[in-house]
This record gives sequence, C-alpha cells and structure tokens, in this order.
Amino acid sequence: MEKKNIDWENLGFDYIVTDKRYVSYYKDGAWDDGALTSDATVTISECAGVLQYAQTCFEGLKAYTTVDGHIVCFRPDLNADRMIDSCERLEMPVFPKERFLEAVEQVVSANEAYVPPYGSGATLYIRPYMFGSNAVIGVKPAREYQFRMFVTPVGPYFKGGAKPITIRVCDYDRAAPHGTGHIKAGLNYAMSLFPIMDAHRQGFDENMYLDAATRTKVEETGGANFLFVTKDGTVVTPKSNSILPSITRRSLMYVAEHYLGLKVEQREVYFDEVKDFADCGLCGTAAVISPVGKINDHGREICFPSGMEEMGPVTAKLRETLTGIQMGTIEAPEGWIKVIK
Ligand SMILES: *Cc1c(COP(=O)(O)O)cnc(C)c1O
Repeated sequence: MEKKNIDWENLGFDYIVTDKRYVSYYKDGAWDDGALTSDATVTISECAGVLQYAQTCFEGLKAYTTVDGHIVCFRPDLNADRMIDSCERLEMPVFPKERFLEAVEQVVSANEAYVPPYGSGATLYIRPYMFGSNAVIGVKPAREYQFRMFVTPVGPYFKGGAKPITIRVCDYDRAAPHGTGHIKAGLNYAMSLFPIMDAHRQGFDENMYLDAATRTKVEETGGANFLFVTKDGTVVTPKSNSILPSITRRSLMYVAEHYLGLKVEQREVYFDEVKDFADCGLCGTAAVISPVGKINDHGREICFPSGMEEMGPVTAKLRETLTGIQMGTIEAPEGWIKVIK
C-alpha cells in the first residue's frame, strides 16, 4: 500500500480530508448497519437538535505505526466506554461498544495510506462523534441521530522538544458540581472558547480551572488533566466528579506505579499546595504530557523547579515510557494495544 505524499514531520493539527469515514443512522429506536462513505459532508435539518440545543458528544484517539510496522490504536475500548457515558448523560442512544471498535478498525484500515510512518512523530487522529439530527424546536432529545467517525493525520505535537508552557488560574468555571464536566460534550468546549482566547490575549498558553463550588481545588485545563509530582517523587492527580476522565492520565498513573515503581495518589488537590510540587504536566491524547513551567495566579507566579527550558525528570520519564508502549518499543500491559493490521 502506497502512503499519501504528505510532509509528515511538518503536519500541524488541522483537519485534512481523507478517503473514507464511517456513518451509522439511528431512527425508529434502532441503529442501521452502518457503512463507510466517501462523502465528507453532512446534510441535516436546519432545526436539527445539535444545531439548536447542542445535543452532541465526541471522542478522540489515535492510530500509529509501531516500530515493527503494525498499525495500532491505544485503548480504544476506553473511548467506547466513555462515549457511552457521554451519550447517557445527554439522552442520546448508546452506540454499542463492539460496533464502536469495529468502526475504528474499518475507518483506519480504509485510510491506511494516511497513517503516518513510524518515527515521523505524526499520528492518525480518529474522531468519533454523535449528534441529534432531526428537527427539534421544543426542548427535548432528538429522535434521530448520526454516529460518525473520521480520521485526519496530525503532526508531532512538539516540534523540536517539549517546551514548558505558562498557564494562568482562570476566573471562569469549566464545570459545575453535578454538571457535565465528566463527559466529552461539545458544549464544554463551546463555553471554554472565550476563556482560552482571553488567556491567549493576556499571554498565557492555557487556563487552570479550579472547582466551581469553592475555588480552592485544582480541576483541569480546557482539554487536559493535571499530573503533579511531589518533591519526594509521588505522582498526584486531582480527584473530582467534574473532571473529564482522561485515558492518557489513567494510563500514565498506571505506568508511574507499575513501570516506574512510583507512589501514586488520586485525591483532592488544593491550589494552596501547588507551589510545593516539583513537577507539573498536562495529559491528553494530543500531547501525552505537556510540561507546565509556570502558573500565574493573578500576578503571583509559581515556577516549577524544572524551569522553562525542559520537562521535569519524572514527567519526561512518564512520557517516554508511555510513548514507548504506544510505539511498540516497550511491552504494553495486556489489552492496551489494539492491532488493526
Ligand atoms: C478529552 C479530554 C481530556 C483528555 O482525555 P484523553 O482521553 O487523555 O485524550 C482531558 N480533559 C478534557 C476536558 C477532555 O475533553
């Protein structure tokens, strides 16, 4: 199979249309058989539930080429499970887990020419999503839905090394207690656009959101979970019902404990303790871990000892180990790597 003529090393994180995508339609209480299509457009009612009341959720995962030339995905079963949770919270029909996994296999296989080669740093980003498609004007769940999955090749997240970023403590809230922070709903991103653009205008890379109820505890950023490392080497991640359960973060916590022999804790993290940590990173599918060098709390700076030039030693080791597991150079825990071909 011949790869597309793409400059893999210099790809950004932009949508590039690929050959095939998967679509299944839900109507009269059931999903149809689903199929791949070459049509990259969606035609729906002007009054579709998704357009009026934002009834939509999504997932994000990646396919890679491993060192021995296989095309694999990382823990897609957890994306399927999380999408089920999102659908239930949004009164959307569940797309069965087995079918989700089959769709991943079909879409990636059909777009094999777009899977970046091993060593390029690029990956194939997979975007499953669902939305209410029939006309809804009174507020209620749609009766018809589309489950879709497309892929797009994306470049290395860090070109020329992972540079630490500067984040600010945000005065806007991301998620209410008992709200929708724990599901991957488009609405959580719509409301984060103003705070993130505002952060950029003020010269910061990201927002650190605190818990909405007391504003004393660390939650997450707009799209990544926090990992902290204490001065004696314990890896700590915040616990809260309004944090999105990152698959990368859960995997890194496992790697910390079982591969690196570190102590791990998932617990409430008060903002007041952040100044005492040795190392801080943001975890998500896109970057695995992005190092945080500095946190700005209304003008007061917290600078981590790792500085603004390179990642801290523990987060660097975590990142190296997890990417090794993903690329096939380090043995993976049972069931983490799904071989597509
Ligand atoms: C998707 C997402 C993450 C990262 O989750 P991964 O499964 O690791 O990609 C973190 N926070 C939010 C708000 C997200 O939407």
